[in-house]
Amino acid sequence: MPKKIIISAFTVAAILGILFLACTQDEKSRLSSASQTQLNTLTKEEQASGWKLLFDGKTFKGWRGLGREEIPEGHWVIEQGAIKKVPSKDAPLQKDGQPLEGGDIMTVESFMDFELSLEWKISSGGNSGIKYNVSEEMSVSYPPKNAALGFEYQILDDERHPDAKKGDNRTAAALYDLIAPQGKKLKPVGEFNQARILFRGNHGEHWLNGVKVLEYDLNTPRMAQLIAQSKFKDIPEFAAKRKGHIVLQDHTDAVWFRNIKVRELESLENEAPQLKKSFREDKNGWIYVHLEGTPGEIGFQQGFHLAPEIDDALQMFAFYLERATNHAWKFYREAAENIFWPKIEKEYQEEIEGIAAGLSARFPEKKYDKFDITALNGWIELAMYYFPYLEEKAKQGAGNNKAPSFCSAFIATGSYTEDGQIVIGHNAWVDYIVGERWNIIADIVPKKGFRILMDSFPGYIHSGDDFVLNGAGIVYTETTISQFKGFKEDGTPEFMRARKAAQYADSVDAFISIMCADNNGAYANDWLVGDLKTNEIARLELGLKNKRVWRTKDGYFIGSNFPSDEKLIAEETTFNPKDSSLSVLIRKARWEQLMEENKGKINAEKGKLFEGDHLDISSGAVASNSNVLCGHVEDDPRGLPEFIWTPYFPGGAVQGKVTTAKLAKSLKFWARMGHPCGQDFIASKFFEKHPEYRWQEKFLKDMRSHPWTLFDTATFVTPGSEF
Ligand SMILES: [Zn+2]
Repeated sequence: MPKKIIISAFTVAAILGILFLACTQDEKSRLSSASQTQLNTLTKEEQASGWKLLFDGKTFKGWRGLGREEIPEGHWVIEQGAIKKVPSKDAPLQKDGQPLEGGDIMTVESFMDFELSLEWKISSGGNSGIKYNVSEEMSVSYPPKNAALGFEYQILDDERHPDAKKGDNRTAAALYDLIAPQGKKLKPVGEFNQARILFRGNHGEHWLNGVKVLEYDLNTPRMAQLIAQSKFKDIPEFAAKRKGHIVLQDHTDAVWFRNIKVRELESLENEAPQLKKSFREDKNGWIYVHLEGTPGEIGFQQGFHLAPEIDDALQMFAFYLERATNHAWKFYREAAENIFWPKIEKEYQEEIEGIAAGLSARFPEKKYDKFDITALNGWIELAMYYFPYLEEKAKQGAGNNKAPSFCSAFIATGSYTEDGQIVIGHNAWVDYIVGERWNIIADIVPKKGFRILMDSFPGYIHSGDDFVLNGAGIVYTETTISQFKGFKEDGTPEFMRARKAAQYADSVDAFISIMCADNNGAYANDWLVGDLKTNEIARLELGLKNKRVWRTKDGYFIGSNFPSDEKLIAEETTFNPKDSSLSVLIRKARWEQLMEENKGKINAEKGKLFEGDHLDISSGAVASNSNVLCGHVEDDPRGLPEFIWTPYFPGGAVQGKVTTAKLAKSLKFWARMGHPCGQDFIASKFFEKHPEYRWQEKFLKDMRSHPWTLFDTATFVTPGSEF
């Protein structure tokens, strides 16, 4: 059975691949040749890839008035190879002196999944639009009777028409009254603009002059909310996907259309049924993905929905890891194949293969495979544990490792929290070039095991920085053990154990047992775990040779990368617990102070403040450096000496998450993308001050801080899902 699923995923990948590839090539060739070729004709390539002309340049063949048999007389003419809307004030009068009625014109044919390409030119101060997904029957049942109801690619003179002042979602190329275009390059009034509309399955895109300016997905909470706030809110069937007409709008002003071409596409859902239960929603800097089904389906859904982000992440790592770790991506892939792959259970192998298949369906020319995805999942284990272990093996002392000192976290319960129940919070520290991409919220409904809600990274099967809730009431997070060394080649990768714990742990004991089973020592952490059912919290300090567990139903555990077990410290780290200059210990002291000061008051709002905290307890002052819980190493002249971060290294806290028992029981958590304190990181300003890091410029972008956002599996639920 699983084998069958994989085969079908690859078949689908191949079919989709051809379409997507053709799509980009077409777009390029059309843009470059539109001005040189004859108007209203198709090139041989266009014909070969299924394009059809919707306008022959001379007649209205294939068009009629909406709600009419004919083109409304006097209102629409053909002029210099373009369909022109005659300004209504210039339209001829009837014999009785009344103005002739105008109205929209529409294609006789209707289209379900398609790509539309045309050129449009608006008159000064003018307004018009291209409507699609139009039901003639529905349109005529609402007044005015010859005006179409449907999604509208807005056409406007943005400078002069007053509608532009009512909101960006009413400017040219907008999805009218719903979504504003972004990054558009509009031609001046009097010149033709090139529009492209892609409408396939539930997915829609608007393009203007070669730039994608917006996209959306139907049947999503985002769309429901946009429609509820729009003038379409009282039209129940408005957003239903249908085989619809394409319409040119009569808004009384002069407008021209030419080179109108359409290409019908295969329905996505028919081709890739495994996408059916899944969706993607972008919200406040995060990308929420709902993944549901068998391992292969979950993987394919992720690979497909996050393809641009996974591709970007793989390109970034191929560039960055070679420079930062002296090992090219090839070494990562080989290690993934030889060290990790044989230790990954079948279920997760299938999910990884699914991710590669979904990614290939979108980007067949890129040739990514399961080992790229495996290496991506385990890059920290390889870069910071395996490679130093190899060096150590080759020459004793060479691999004197500095395992990462990443993250600030807490878990509290009993008399420490406001309601006596568990509160948990975490902020992730990592190189900004990586962390600004750590913006996935994964909502996974696996065929077996519990539903999972976690933050994650594109292409991961696990959380990675580890902030995880599951349907059995288990919550967990971690911070790494600073200055740890050790790796076991034939152990099970940490990323698989962590994912397995997320999916199958229903108690603190089960969590501990999954994490410890066949431990490979990589990404050695102090795990903070809680059971909402019992109100118990625990800390699992898991080295390779040593481990220790602390548990309580009344108290707190904190994480700032410090190990506590003396034997583990002595045998497995170079950490000096007496060195009070370490960020690790300064943050530990601040955590203890915050926990005691807020005893009995800790709740989600407090947790947000803790994760964005900027008090440097070593000086007693508010600071921006590596000593504060919301780390900003980019402002620290010392860098992070207990780790490999050099002075002013662009790394630190990249996002934060907080939840309470009450929220977590119904799978909800708060998350903030960007520094949890709310500060923006602006790459250009950083490079001006620190040109020594300019080599990262190709991939290090701005990391803006977004508002705290509540992620809720109940409101992000997919229609038809059992949940
Ligand atoms: Zn901060």
